[in-house]
Amino acid sequence: MPGLALPEAAVRAGEPALAEAPANPQPLIALADVGRRYRLDGLEVAALSGVSLQVNAGEFVVVLGPSGSGKTTLLNLIGGLDAATSGHISVAGQAITGASRGTLAAYRRRTTSFVFQTFNLFPGLTALENVEFGAEAAGRQGTAEIARDRLAEVGLTDRMNHFPHQLSGGEQQRVASARALATNNPVLLADEPTGELDFATGVTILELLRAQAVAGRAVIVVTHNREIARAADRVVELSSGRIVSDGAPAGGRADVAKLHW
Ligand code: ADP
Ligand code: MG
Repeated sequence: MPGLALPEAAVRAGEPALAEAPANPQPLIALADVGRRYRLDGLEVAALSGVSLQVNAGEFVVVLGPSGSGKTTLLNLIGGLDAATSGHISVAGQAITGASRGTLAAYRRRTTSFVFQTFNLFPGLTALENVEFGAEAAGRQGTAEIARDRLAEVGLTDRMNHFPHQLSGGEQQRVASARALATNNPVLLADEPTGELDFATGVTILELLRAQAVAGRAVIVVTHNREIARAADRVVELSSGRIVSDGAPAGGRADVAKLHW
């Protein structure tokens, strides 16, 4: 290994010549002292203040907080859909804060997948085409098959050719999850993804999201529902735009199927 000097002790201990993982691996997502202020009619609203957060690949994190606590703002900032007014965000070692429009566009297509709180399906595309769009944007091959598979997972095989206005709110929300799942991107961000769903369907979606974390993605799910938060490895609680706690759910992680909401 020319040019690489290893301490002798490491060689003797049988360490690999090139360490696979650095001693202090960088978190996939890192926010440092992030703030987002809005000015509306001369009035300043601090939607987020002093938010520092790190999320690793493979983590299933729930962001919990009441309405207006800054959850959507936080997810939009991590997703490169909005810009922080202070602090710094980096994802996969790349600075998101201050990045060019082109860099952010590529970041949204190739690094993140987003389930919007209000679905944001394309009204002129069928369910299948909406999901296929996710796979196409992420540059995947075999997008039609991927889209059919993701729709089957969320139980919508028989609604594939429906347009959004021909679907119920819950069905549209499942299409939105399927579209995000079709990207295979390393960061999955879901804003209240079970808000419109009955319990059984909500369980299916949460289990699909959890499986993404098991597969190595960083998954951040926003909810105002404390019971749903019990399904997470880690709960980050927001109140008035600030993180007030960050740790394992009280009583430890619960099986998704054993939750009640
Ligand atoms: P949550 O998703 O937790 O309900 P949001 O992140 O949507 O909360 O909003 C956090 C706070 O920021 C709220 O008080 C909201 O009214 C305010 N806010 C959000 N977006 C805007 C905006 N574009 N302009 C002004 N205030 C906003
Ligand atoms: Mg919200």
